[in-house]
Amino acid sequence: MTCAGINNVLSSVYSVSSRSLVLKMATNSPTKSASSNSYKDVQGYIHAVSKVQIPANPKSSRYFDFTIQENHEETRVICFTPEIKDELKRREEAKLPTSLKNISPQKRRYGEGVEYRMNKYSRIEQAKNLAFQWKTSNTDESDTSVTQLLQSAPNGQSVGLKAKVLFKGDTETVYSKHAKKDLTKCDLVVADTTGAITVTLWESQIAEVEPNGCYHFRELKLNCYNKKYLGSSTKTMIEKCEDIDIPDTITIEAVNLTPNQKAKKNITGTILAIEVKKIYICINCKSKIQDAPDTALVKCPNCNLKIKKCELISTTTANIMIKDEKGENMGRFFCPHAVLRNLFQAIASAPGFNMDKNIDTLSANIMEETLLNVSLLSFQVIMEDKIVKSIDLGDTE
Ligand SMILES: [Zn+2]
Repeated sequence: MTCAGINNVLSSVYSVSSRSLVLKMATNSPTKSASSNSYKDVQGYIHAVSKVQIPANPKSSRYFDFTIQENHEETRVICFTPEIKDELKRREEAKLPTSLKNISPQKRRYGEGVEYRMNKYSRIEQAKNLAFQWKTSNTDESDTSVTQLLQSAPNGQSVGLKAKVLFKGDTETVYSKHAKKDLTKCDLVVADTTGAITVTLWESQIAEVEPNGCYHFRELKLNCYNKKYLGSSTKTMIEKCEDIDIPDTITIEAVNLTPNQKAKKNITGTILAIEVKKIYICINCKSKIQDAPDTALVKCPNCNLKIKKCELISTTTANIMIKDEKGENMGRFFCPHAVLRNLFQAIASAPGFNMDKNIDTLSANIMEETLLNVSLLSFQVIMEDKIVKSIDLGDTE
């Protein structure tokens, strides 16, 4: 194995690396078995093997992590060969003494100390005669308090917290440039006996909490954007916990974190003008592809592949102008995918319509014509943001 070989592996793992990993590795202690002194062998017990993590950036490699208990010390190991996860899981469950060969120590990304990386040159072997015992993992991060988080915890730290949900906002759909798809998010304001903080939950985790419920959140990440807040990741775990009494002073403090509830307005009327836009996401490079009307195929502008539309995920949105019952033009509004999807499901099941329930199969043109022909609709909008929250069929028939 050459140094250039290692370099290639590392640079393929890190699409962007401002730090020189190779230089850092070279400062670590020598090893007997690897030809490069940047690698070492360790022996111990395996704990806390994670699920395979799929990075949001499609160019980044899949990975999982675990810890290796070397006597009293536990060290995080990140592994970029998901194929060996099952073997490590088996060794964790069987508490087998394990030797990890040719792994590279790295400075930890967050906090002090060292973590290890395994790549395709690393090996797992049975260890013989370990001089220390298997013990219960102590990697379970100890829970922290909100005040500790706000005052002393570093950004990026993974934290556990027991807290009460004082506020749960609306679930919003946002387009993630990073993941190149629509994701749902929801902001909470949570509090413990020491303070209040905002928590942003994503995707399936949103349904796991209710307002006024108390939860043990694990593996939330501390972020800072204007102010400190916690965000969930695929590793986050949420469990109900015992009731927490929040002092009045904290409840009042929490109100300041609660976003202003924007006023929703109900309008009955019709659509005066509309433009429906369909965007597809390339199955290969995840780029956005504009719809090509009247054909079953689209071509990715980035990787030039032609793909059948029916194989692709589509996002359908619209700009609409609404005229209310009195004939007043209410202006132009943005209509998200979920609103159109629900509306066309309602239209497809309404008497007299002959239409597919699934908006993926409907052309922008047929959707525009259909909506311009409906004589009465009820809209719920946020005037301030010019966004449509829902559209229902009016029941004039
Ligand atoms: Zn593509």
